[in-house]
Amino acid sequence: MAFELTALPYDYNALVPFMSPQTFEFHHDKHHAGYVTNLNKMVQDTELADKSLEEVIQATFKDPAKAGVFNNAAQVWNHTFYWNSMKPSGGGTPTGPIADLINTAFGSFEKFKEEFKNAGVTQFGSGWAWLILDNGTLKVTKTSNAENPIAHGQKALLTMDVWEHAYYLDYQNRRPDFAQAFLDHMVNWDFAAQNLAAA
Ligand code: MN
Repeated sequence: MAFELTALPYDYNALVPFMSPQTFEFHHDKHHAGYVTNLNKMVQDTELADKSLEEVIQATFKDPAKAGVFNNAAQVWNHTFYWNSMKPSGGGTPTGPIADLINTAFGSFEKFKEEFKNAGVTQFGSGWAWLILDNGTLKVTKTSNAENPIAHGQKALLTMDVWEHAYYLDYQNRRPDFAQAFLDHMVNWDFAAQNLAAA
């Protein structure tokens, strides 16, 4: 059973004016699709072909001989998770248990936003900013290239892609502006709350 490219959970123009249809046409239809194609080629006729994406990620992390498989598998998972980390008319302030955990971990929602934005902005080169649950505590982390919380045995709640391909068409080199728009207008707190509830 080959790995499949998940569809976007909203229309290509759903996040206008903060993310353009052109960004989704390249980012989902070319980049994300490319990782799926590469992964399927790499695992074909191997023992990894029948494993779940999460199992492939955990089985190949830190294995130099399987770096290509890890990179493509993790990027397939990361992008599906990223599409769901955004929604039309997103942003706003979370409520309920996740809001309480954010206040406990970061002091306030504004402090969380600062820390998350800072993680994305200071990730040198390509990578991801994350909100994770680690041993019952919320943390903001950043990872380089394809690396993700699954590889580290952590539970991801939200992510923001900070590879240049994620924002260059809409924001050019202005990664801080993209990160601010992600937090103010795109982030999907319902998705984060669901991930927390399922953890
Ligand atoms: Mn990407």
